[in-house]
Amino acid sequence: MTKAIAPVQKNEYYDVTFEDLTHDGSGVAKIEGYPIFVPNALPNEKGQIKVTKINKGYAFGRLVELHEESSQRTDAPCPIYKQCGGCQLQHLSYQGQLDFKQKQVKEVLTRIGKLNLDNVTVHPTLGMEDPWNYRNKAQVPVGEREGGLVAGFYQQRSHEIIDMEQCLIQQSENDEVVAAIKTIANCHGIRAYDEKKNKGWLRHIMVRYGIVTKEMMVVFITRTPDFPNKKAIIDDITSQFPAIKSIVQNINPKRTNVIFGDQTTVLWGEEYIYDYIGDIKFAISARSFYQVNPEQTKVLYDKALEYADLSGEESVIDAYCGIGTISLFLAQKAKKVFGVEIVPEAIEDAKRNAALNRIENAEFAVGEAEVVIPKWYEEGNAADVIVVDPPRKGCDEALLQTILDMKPKKVVYVSCNPATLARDLKVLEDGGYATVEVQPVDMFPHTTHCEAVACLKLV
Ligand code: SAH
Repeated sequence: MTKAIAPVQKNEYYDVTFEDLTHDGSGVAKIEGYPIFVPNALPNEKGQIKVTKINKGYAFGRLVELHEESSQRTDAPCPIYKQCGGCQLQHLSYQGQLDFKQKQVKEVLTRIGKLNLDNVTVHPTLGMEDPWNYRNKAQVPVGEREGGLVAGFYQQRSHEIIDMEQCLIQQSENDEVVAAIKTIANCHGIRAYDEKKNKGWLRHIMVRYGIVTKEMMVVFITRTPDFPNKKAIIDDITSQFPAIKSIVQNINPKRTNVIFGDQTTVLWGEEYIYDYIGDIKFAISARSFYQVNPEQTKVLYDKALEYADLSGEESVIDAYCGIGTISLFLAQKAKKVFGVEIVPEAIEDAKRNAALNRIENAEFAVGEAEVVIPKWYEEGNAADVIVVDPPRKGCDEALLQTILDMKPKKVVYVSCNPATLARDLKVLEDGGYATVEVQPVDMFPHTTHCEAVACLKLV
């Protein structure tokens, strides 16, 4: 057998036309059918690339010069776009991003899901009217430069902290609070954590903002439990920002990339701040999971609710329920909702949030969806509708099998990874379900993250 030889060589230059975008936002050019992935290039563009790495079956390249620009190319407004890496699509127009996400969903549903798109409607991506300043949570690492504190982001592929004044996808309130805390902490001689020596004190600053209530929370993540100049620092922060309702310290003594440690104490104010998605109120603590773009979360969950098509008589299972966000949405229209989630603290939040909203027809259980739901089924409990919202790896096979055994009349699949969505839809289709429609929703503008909700019916 002859060894396949790549038609390109490392460090050589080639003139190419870009045909496509990968799911992580790189341009794809082909030479003799052999794909080369090139960051910062867009479909329909022509340019010169330098091949930087050759793998089996594909290569990577760097864009040297653009000869022809796409009509969808736009100037990335963020001055640190390339250094940061948090956004990948700022150089593509917003409409171009929405089209890219819809196309990506269509592509995997056909290639992986083997669906015939004549029978399944994949809607245009629902985007934001103003796709900036949407993140409600800032979580920035802290370092030192020439004696002063810097806070921002790790430079791509390094642990160098780059100082950041403003993040364009962040709520501007969060940026302002982070900048002020940097100044205040500098004035009070606070030292940053040094990860090489495992010395120093302040590791991360986290700020959360309730977009509806306008309440804010600040979390100091520190190496040790002490808090130098605590009173003065808290006074400075709270007098400058009346919106701050809670200041919390989390202690993480370990040499680790994991941001939070196990110990959390409230330094000032409340343990929780509150926010709303639609009519439902959520209590958010320092460690609670809460969707970072609540405006689009509402769009996504409204769609899930529409697809569930509840009359008030149904019993519904919400698998992978987190803090019960979807469950509480569904409970307003269902007879009974059962949420399942693996993280015990999230279930505590879910129960608290149900009580906070006086929702009495939602029950929550801790455990693996693929263990708890089969057990419910064995005990004779079946649901009329099942909603799943799994992590990126998709649903466990045992859960899909239980769905096929239980035969709910509807399955609503909320997905943050189109590839595993497509894989799981194929299993459900082979087992007797028909995918009726799929709605991509842009939860994270300017990034390649793509959320979608699919509606399936038992046929
Ligand atoms: N539906 C929620 C959270 C979705 S994120 C919301 O919209 O807010 C996916 C959730 O699945 C996470 O909370 C994660 O902790 C949980 N999870 C991961 N594996 C799980 C499993 N095997 N069984 C149940 N929950 C799981």
